[in-house]
Amino acid sequence: MNLLFKSIVDLIYPPLCIHCDESLDRDDSLFCKSCLELLSLIVPEERCPYCFSVDFNAETEKCCQWCLEHPPLFERMGAAFDYEGVAASLIKQMKYGGQPFLAKGAAAYLVAQFVRLDWPMPDCIVPMPMAPLRRLERGYNQSLLLAESVGAFLNRPVLDVLKKRSGEFSQAGLNYQQRLQLSKESFSVKDGFKLHDQCVLLIDDVMTTGSSLNCCARALEALYPEKLYALTVCRAV
Ligand SMILES: [Zn+2]
Ligand SMILES: [Zn+2]
Repeated sequence: MNLLFKSIVDLIYPPLCIHCDESLDRDDSLFCKSCLELLSLIVPEERCPYCFSVDFNAETEKCCQWCLEHPPLFERMGAAFDYEGVAASLIKQMKYGGQPFLAKGAAAYLVAQFVRLDWPMPDCIVPMPMAPLRRLERGYNQSLLLAESVGAFLNRPVLDVLKKRSGEFSQAGLNYQQRLQLSKESFSVKDGFKLHDQCVLLIDDVMTTGSSLNCCARALEALYPEKLYALTVCRAV
C-alpha cells in the first residue's frame, strides 16, 4: 500500500494545501499534515458491497435495501472516499479549479482502494464520458485523466468507448427516476470497440445516486463485456 502512495512523490503539486490553504513543508504533497490525517479510505466491509451505501448492516444483510429493490448492473461499485471535507476539496479543485494534474494524486487513492477491495484485475479501464460541450468548457475530462492514471498504475489499457450527448443540463435537484430517464438517453458506445468477455472497470470522479454509472453499464452491455465494476474517487453522502 505504501508503495502506491509513494508514487505520488514523483508529481508536482502546488505549494499550498488544497483544502485549507496552509503552506506545505513539502512540495510533494497535496495536503498539509492535519488535513492528510482527516483523509481516510472508506472501510469496504462497512458498506453495501454492491453500491457502497452506508445504509447497510454487514452482520444481518447481504446488500442494502436499495440494491435489493434495484438489482445492480455491476458486479461491484465502490469509492475511495465519502464526498466531504478534504476529499471533496480534491474533487472540486480537480474539476472546477482548473487543476487537472490533481487527477494523478486522486488516482493513487483509487488504486489503493482497488487493492483493498481485492477485485479481479480488469482487462481494460473505461472512463465516464463527458458531453462535448462540457469538455470544451473545461478543457479536459477529469474521469479520463483518472482512468489514464489508474491504467498506468495497474498496467491496463484505457478504452474511451462511451460517449455522452451534449445539451444535457445540470442534474442537481433531480430525483433518481428523473436522473435515470435523462441518463438513459445520454449514453451510447462509440463505433469500432469490442469488449467481448472482458472484465471492465469503469472510473468516475463522484458517484451521486449511481444512475449515471448504471446507464453507462446499460450502454456498455451492447459490447458484451463479461463483468462490470465501477470505482469512483468519492461517493455522495
Ligand atoms: Zn490543510
Ligand atoms: Zn447497495
